[in-house]
Amino acid sequence: MAQHSSSPLLQLLSRLEAHSDQFTALFYNRLFAIDPPTRELFPVAMARQRTMLFRVLAHVIETIDYELELEELVTFLAQLGRDHRKYGVLPSHYESFGIALLWAMRTQLGPQWTPAMEAAAAQVVELTTVVMRSAAETEAQRLPAWWSATVVEHHRKTRDLAVVRVESDVPIPYQPGQYFSVEVPQYPRIWRFYSAAIPPNNLGQMEFHIRAVPGGSVSQAMVSSARYGDRWRIGAPHGAMEVDRTGGRDVVMVAGGTGLAPLRALIMDMCRFGENPRVHLFYGTRYPGELYDLDTLWELMRTNPWLSVTPVSEFDEDPWSLGKTADSSPFGLYLRQTGTLADVVCSYGRWSDRQILVCGSAAMVEATVEQMVANGTPRENIQHDPI
Ligand SMILES: Cc1cc2nc3c(=O)[nH]c(=O)nc-3n(C[C@H](O)[C@H](O)[C@H](O)COP(=O)(O)OP(=O)(O)OC[C@H]3O[C@@H](n4cnc5c(N)ncnc54)[C@H](O)[C@@H]3O)c2cc1C
Repeated sequence: MAQHSSSPLLQLLSRLEAHSDQFTALFYNRLFAIDPPTRELFPVAMARQRTMLFRVLAHVIETIDYELELEELVTFLAQLGRDHRKYGVLPSHYESFGIALLWAMRTQLGPQWTPAMEAAAAQVVELTTVVMRSAAETEAQRLPAWWSATVVEHHRKTRDLAVVRVESDVPIPYQPGQYFSVEVPQYPRIWRFYSAAIPPNNLGQMEFHIRAVPGGSVSQAMVSSARYGDRWRIGAPHGAMEVDRTGGRDVVMVAGGTGLAPLRALIMDMCRFGENPRVHLFYGTRYPGELYDLDTLWELMRTNPWLSVTPVSEFDEDPWSLGKTADSSPFGLYLRQTGTLADVVCSYGRWSDRQILVCGSAAMVEATVEQMVANGTPRENIQHDPI
């Protein structure tokens, strides 16, 4: 919070923070008034959009004012610019964005607006728009804003989990372990991140593993109402999780629920090679019946001696409501362990000589990483996607 600050930028931020909803509403109303086609770029419900905008603005202002990691800020804004292409944002929109933002700040502050604030805010707007626009323009020369893909298979593994296979019109270039923002026809202009569960191939086939979160919009639609023939939009790949096959260190992977998807893609990619570091995968869920992909892992283990898998579940019994659709415990796997993933993984030791990849919900990743670090695992050995 910027309450005790005195620089014009931090004064501005603290006054905007006090009425951030009103300010962001002013901004979007102004933007849509001066550049009406921009309304089409946003979803009908704008609450989340407004919150995100304010978070980004506060982050930019604080980083600039405190002269914190400016290089990281530029990288962040460039990524944001590239990412906004999928919404249909064009270079010309950035000018309207800057004008509307300054107008909303000025209007929100009224008599408290000062020339010093105007100058400082203009710099923030200039930096933000220039970096975002130029990153977007550079990427536009290389990649489309998004790809179209057709749903070709939909398997409901439990009541709230589905495996969906799609085929993109042209193959999407990506690395195993990466994730994409995805838009489905049930929720136009709302994008969510999902990880590819198989490595890329030249037929454009992709697989996503989706858990419907309670009250979730996109995930519920993907699990409950996605159908053969639906057309999905898939944005540019993100993420940098990888296995170093040459450094001589073995690998520990920790997958919570659908967090299995990117780790499985990495494992499948490794199957192309005769020699690999040893990989031990802990794959955990709340209930045994939610371990929806043990069959695949069992097949991979059978033919790749460098791979071993320990299934983990917090509880021993499935509730009646789970609705699993197949027996998910193939004979011959390591014995399932009971407990949280963090507890089970740490009970085996410090893993300090391993490269470690953790993937799952934000809560699972945070809990697992913190417990492993407390248990003696060097934090720098652990990779995970942004939370
Ligand atoms: C890098 C990354 C990769 C991801 N990969 C996958 C993937 O492969 N498979 C997958 O199923 N999901 C994945 N997710 C999560 C996904 O992007 C969505 O957040 C999730 O599907 C919920 O979207 P929604 O629109 O249904 O819910 P929203 O409408 O966004 O949220 C509805 C409610 O659910 C809560 N909520 C949102 N996400 C979760 C969650 N994960 N657990 C519990 N509550 C939640 C929200 O706080 C809110 O209260 C990934 C997220 C990230 C950041």
